[in-house]
Amino acid sequence: MSRGVLVIISSPSGAGKTTLARRLMTEFPALEFSVSFTTRPMRPGEVDGKDYRFVSQEVFDKMVADDQFAEWALVHNNYYGTAKEPVDRALNEARHVVFDVDWQGGRALSKQWPDDSLKIFILPPSVDELSRRLRSRASDSESVIEARLAKAREEMAHYDEYDFLIVNDDVDKAYATLRAVYLTRIGTPTEDELVKQTTSREAKRQAESLVCSDS
Ligand code: 5GP
Repeated sequence: MSRGVLVIISSPSGAGKTTLARRLMTEFPALEFSVSFTTRPMRPGEVDGKDYRFVSQEVFDKMVADDQFAEWALVHNNYYGTAKEPVDRALNEARHVVFDVDWQGGRALSKQWPDDSLKIFILPPSVDELSRRLRSRASDSESVIEARLAKAREEMAHYDEYDFLIVNDDVDKAYATLRAVYLTRIGTPTEDELVKQTTSREAKRQAESLVCSDS
């Protein structure tokens, strides 16, 4: 019986992790996103239940006390946590899930599910470029940016806990690597799946239109 894969992606903020992870989930819609719980305030454009589950400190503390988290951590003065139950369920139902967590989350998740974890670390091309990217985010104040740079260095110090390191100097190139890493891990389709895909009605319709076209 096949199991799901936990695709754990970490990076300092500003390295392009969110963009790369979203692109992977867009290309492979069956790939799910693990929606974390957080006590940090919602940013403009974020959607509760989609980006995060935004909860009060009281709710978060209660979840910790009730042992509902697979892992939780304090990041940039806010709490973040991954609920345990959806991870177990996804693994048992052979669904692959993306986790956007920091090194503490990556370490805790891969410790609990060592055989099911695929750990990928995204690096910025340089600290200067990281600093430039962090500054271009209008939503954060200077002190927040400084704190993020310090946290970025701390985050990057844990690169060797990851199976794959991807330097994001060119987003298309970085994505091609991420995609290859993911596909290699989840394995090629079985013969049955391949037959189904390549002889689908849509593929046949496409073949017919090619055969019948004049030009
Ligand atoms: P942001 O607030 O910018 O969305 O995320 C800040 C940091 O928290 C990022 O490095 C992100 O990967 C991390 N993070 C988000 N959710 C979780 C989680 O559930 N657990 C842990 N350990 N880190 C998380």
